[in-house]
Amino acid sequence: MVADLPSYRPGKGAAQAEAEHGITGAIKLASNENPVEPIDAILDAVAAAAHGVNRYADHRATAVREALSLKLGVDVEQVTVGNGSSALLQQLFFSYVDPGDEVVFPWRSFEVYPVFTRLMNGVAVQVPLAVDLGFDVDALAASVSDRTKLMFLASPNNPTGTASTTTELRSLLDRVPSSVIVCIDEAYREFLDPGFGDPVAELIPDFPNVIVTRTFSKAHGLAGLRVGYAVGHPDVIAAVDKTLLPFAVNALAQAAALAALAHEDTIDERVQDILAERARVEVELAADGWALPNHQGNFVWLATGERTDQIALELERRGVVIRPFSGEGVRVTIGSPPENDRFLATLREVTTGGR
Ligand SMILES: *Cc1c(COP(=O)(O)O)cnc(C)c1O
Repeated sequence: MVADLPSYRPGKGAAQAEAEHGITGAIKLASNENPVEPIDAILDAVAAAAHGVNRYADHRATAVREALSLKLGVDVEQVTVGNGSSALLQQLFFSYVDPGDEVVFPWRSFEVYPVFTRLMNGVAVQVPLAVDLGFDVDALAASVSDRTKLMFLASPNNPTGTASTTTELRSLLDRVPSSVIVCIDEAYREFLDPGFGDPVAELIPDFPNVIVTRTFSKAHGLAGLRVGYAVGHPDVIAAVDKTLLPFAVNALAQAAALAALAHEDTIDERVQDILAERARVEVELAADGWALPNHQGNFVWLATGERTDQIALELERRGVVIRPFSGEGVRVTIGSPPENDRFLATLREVTTGGR
């Protein structure tokens, strides 16, 4: 029954917070968006593509697949493109999960995994994170049964920011039957320390059951256009393509993705700016006494525990919208330098000068 289904809860927008609290000038650090508008080359490509929107776009986004296959050094049959990587995650559920099938993922993690599991009448098997907020590899391996169809591993994980090395992922994959499709959700790939390794280059050649999803939403600043991609064995990609909504990736999104791929250097410079800001924010938070995990995304995680809702509300009343996870912690996106300063100052105010 649709009435029983949970809904995906997006991060609250600045305008909504302003209306709720009767304030102006709110900032949104709640959805891990890029704080700056897309680079000029992308804006130009989108404007040019707008002239053609009387036509359907290429259903398979062939040019984007080809550009990605060149960039990643894989066959074009190993790549698919979707309406954001969220849509590709949902396609994995449509393609592989029958009612009663089990879907394994660490928890806490990305909110759509339990939502999509329920949508398919699947059974979510949620494996608690380890104390350092990393994955509990033994518990994940032990939780696989003969009903398990999918496993989702977000690395870096949302909302904790913690990541797994390819060595750790391999040690888990070695213990998961090849009948289980394992999705390594790399929405924050571009922010990850390269020392963690590259699952596309290192794991996909050895594990035909691994699919890696990535997105243009975060590092490339295209969250509002909806384009993401997946890389894996041609059979898995073909299965995912069977559930591709007709014309899922619109013409503007395809043009933007191609322009982004042609200007990776400029985008990487912006990623480096965000990483520098993340480091600065972490130093300040640590000086205030916060214990921080090893953040590898464009956001930080504060274990605010029982005070979570109150801290989130007080920040919001002062115009700083972050993402609370009641009873656990808050996830705060790295914004522009003034936004980050405002978050730090407001957090100090609402926690009376420190943790
Ligand atoms: C943001 C995010 C995504 C999806 O983003 P899209 O905009 O749908 O591409 C996927 N996984 C995780 C863990 C995310 O945080």
